Amino acid sequence: MAQVLSYLGHFSRLRGSGVERRGPCPLHGSASATGRSFSVNLKKNVYKCFHGEGSQGNVIDFWRSLHNLPLYDAAVHLADTFHVSTKPEQKEKRQPVMEAPNTLISQ
Ligand SMILES: [Zn+2]
Repeated sequence: MAQVLSYLGHFSRLRGSGVERRGPCPLHGSASATGRSFSVNLKKNVYKCFHGEGSQGNVIDFWRSLHNLPLYDAAVHLADTFHVSTKPEQKEKRQPVMEAPNTLISQ
């Protein structure tokens, strides 16, 4: 998910030019423009918060933390945001990876 920066950039004014960008932490309401307690690593596509025990993870973890959502709900929301399907495409009659199991079952 290379979009991690543009996505998390909606929640925090991230600064910096290298692999790591810093900004105020959206998870802890420190919305001051000068805050730097929130870090996003572009290479690993993860965020890290430096408050208290801290929190870190990918965009799904971020969304879960922000809204206190179960993993599934967060994953569905983000799949929608990034236009990634969480279900097999129904338009395709058959997915290559499913052919082997299907053949086994039908025999
Ligand atoms: Zn924080």
